[in-house]
Amino acid sequence: MQFIDFHTHHIHSDPEITSIYNVPLEELNTSQSNQNISIGIHPWEISNINNQFNSIKQKLSQSTVLALGECGLDKIKGPDLQTQIDVFKEHTSLSEQHKKPLIIHCVKSYSEIIKLRKDIDPKQPWILHGFNSSVETMNQAIETGFYFSFGPSLVTHPKTQLTFRNTPLKRVFLETDDSNTNIKELYQKASELRDLNIEEVIEQLQYNFKLIFNNYRYL
Ligand SMILES: [Zn+2]
Repeated sequence: MQFIDFHTHHIHSDPEITSIYNVPLEELNTSQSNQNISIGIHPWEISNINNQFNSIKQKLSQSTVLALGECGLDKIKGPDLQTQIDVFKEHTSLSEQHKKPLIIHCVKSYSEIIKLRKDIDPKQPWILHGFNSSVETMNQAIETGFYFSFGPSLVTHPKTQLTFRNTPLKRVFLETDDSNTNIKELYQKASELRDLNIEEVIEQLQYNFKLIFNNYRYL
């Protein structure tokens, strides 16, 4: 049984869980574990961009860095949209250069993010994390090749549940993000919503994981 927590701000020690820990930038130089991590500039934390990108670039070729992110666009919080777009584009080119997928934070900016993927036409997978938008938005993003990582709102929000039910499982991941929810609870909920055994969900998400990380060796 290998559960995957696709995006978390906590370090897990349960051997049944493979997780991608989103390292805070200020911890980048001190973290030395074998933990799988993602690194990037969250739109709320954009400040000294050159320094921030320099510390990311120093780490990026390490094999424990599975993905770039979370990075993205947020119309509620953070600097002006153009700055956010510039910083996001820099992440997209690092993602292509280093052949590492991109984990995306997106608030009220789906049309911009979808358009960016269409324009850039990257080879790397882009994953919309904490996805809780409508079926319609999901369908537009599917056509452009996005993946979706569903978080704790899958347990509580009918809108997220409806979207999840309609999303092709081959494009799905599950995550705990910054919550204290156990990822196994999300797998349980996912299997109920899809009328599947939990083993079937585990198997499909493992397959998805291996696919986007090129048969990643730790799973
Ligand atoms: Zn997060």
